[in-house]
Order: sequence, then structure tokens, then C-alpha cells
Amino acid sequence: METISAERVRDRFAGAALGTFVGDALGMAVEGWSPALIHRRFGRLETMEPGRFPKGYYTDDTEMMIGILECLAEVGRFDPDITARNFLTNFHPDRGYGNRIYGIMARLAQGEPWDRVGTDSFGNGSAMRVAPIGFFFHDDPTQLKEAALLSSRITHFHPRGLAGAAAQASAVGLAVRHGVADDAADHRAFCEIVAGTVEDVDAGFARAVMNIPLESTGDLDGDIELIRERFACDVTAIGAVPAAIAAFLLTDDFRGALILAVNLGGDADTVGAMTGAIAGGYYGMSRFPREWVDELENNVKGRDYVIALAQKCAMLHSL
Ligand SMILES: [Mg+2]
Repeated sequence: METISAERVRDRFAGAALGTFVGDALGMAVEGWSPALIHRRFGRLETMEPGRFPKGYYTDDTEMMIGILECLAEVGRFDPDITARNFLTNFHPDRGYGNRIYGIMARLAQGEPWDRVGTDSFGNGSAMRVAPIGFFFHDDPTQLKEAALLSSRITHFHPRGLAGAAAQASAVGLAVRHGVADDAADHRAFCEIVAGTVEDVDAGFARAVMNIPLESTGDLDGDIELIRERFACDVTAIGAVPAAIAAFLLTDDFRGALILAVNLGGDADTVGAMTGAIAGGYYGMSRFPREWVDELENNVKGRDYVIALAQKCAMLHSL
């Protein structure tokens, strides 16, 4: 582990937050597709494309990530009550949310408290948005885990859903710390730390993390097959989070990680968002392809807003 300068903290925090957005927008074009269909349509998906939404548009993954980011930037700690209210304030039903969220938002809107509205979902919905907790608490694994579990409970309290959020936050935190990620031995250590974080939450989830492939086949199609034969890359936490971690570990730069993640197909926006968070935290926003960043939507709560909030978190973190 290295000591991180304030400049690098800013770059990595912004990288993990904006990386969520980049992966979400990139994967959105092929959400629900098989790798074969993506191949037929695009060869390789490497550019921002329109899909069910316009090019560069973010979906529920980023919208909910913003709710957590706003809480951390505003009060400098994770607060489930504030976060749940942010989720509701930011909620646009046309951002591709999963079915169960509508009932949750309706109950929040009626004034139900945050700890009374969740469901026993084991979906990837609490992992997809958790990046800000991963970077904000990157140097405190105990607080990281506690906040990740609490953030999941707002919507997902099945142990497998909880484990997904904690595992993803742990991977982002480790990436921001620039922990082990260079070779197969490092990759194994990375997986051991992530698995260790969730062992007592869901042992089956920890086993799935230890099943992440540690070495690339050397080509994109080979790596897609390698990941898809182990993980469903679907809307479940256990099918998506290990796949996202694998896409980060098997590649050498931000661009390569994201291209592998979204070409896996399945829940491509969410796997893309989670790989983007980990790889963005590791490489930093300064290493993002300019053409991807330029195409992100930049409305009131768009690209510049996400960057500014992540940088405010970095400033609070260094105080
Ligand atoms: Mg989505």
C-alpha cells in the first residue's frame, strides 16, 4: 500500500464515482443482450451508443449512486435516513429501475422510515450504487462494511443482497487504496480480502468471490467466456458483482476493463457501473478516455455534478 497524495485521492474518488456513470451509460446500450448478440450488432461495443435511452444517458445505477454521494458530501458521514430521502428526491421512474423499487419509493413518499421500506431482494441493486461508500471509507474497512450493509438495508436486506453491497464496496475501497492488483498472486489476495469482508454475511457469496478467474486468457473473447462460464452476469448480486471484479482484475487499464465488462452482456449497465467504479477508483479519472467522458449527459445532476461531489468528498476526507 502506498500513501496517497491529496491530488491522487481526488482523482481516485472522482474516478470511482464517474466510473460508475461511464460504465452505466456504456452498458445501457446492450442491457439484457447476450454476448453473441452484442458481437453481431457491434463486433465489440467500445463507444457510447444509444439503447433504450439516448447516448450517454445514465440509469438507476448512477441515479442512486448520486443519492449516496450527496449524503457523504453534505454531512461527511453515511446516514441511511438522508440517503433514503435523496433516493426519493432524485427518483425518475424512467431511468430503468427494477420492479421492486416502485413500491419502496411509494412507501418513502408516504413518510415510512428508511428501515421499514426494504425488501428481501438478493438483486444487485444495492451493490450497483455503493461506490461512494467504498471510496469514502477506503482507509477504514470496518466503517466501510458497516455503511455498505446499512445502505443496502434501505432496499435489499436478503443476506445475498447485503453481501453484494459489502463486497462491491470492499473492492472499490481496495482499488482506491491501490491494493494488490498487478499479477495472479495479487489478484488472489484482492479476492481474499473481498471474500473476507462478506464471509460472515453470506458464506456462499464469499465462495463465489474466490471463484473469480485470476489470469486473463489474453484475448477479449476468451475472457468473456471465462467469466460467463462462472457467473451469470445477471440482475442477482452473486451473478454480477464477481463478474465486475473479474473484468477489473483481468485487464490493465480503465478502457480495457470497461470494454470487457459491457461485452459480457446480461445486466450490462450494472456490471459496467460496478467495474467502472472499481477500475475508476484504481486508475483515477485522469486516465478515462476523453471521448467517453465528453459524451456523458451533463444536466443539473450530470457529469460535472458527480465530479464536484466526489471532489468535495475527497476534501472532507483529507480534513
Ligand atoms: Mg440500470
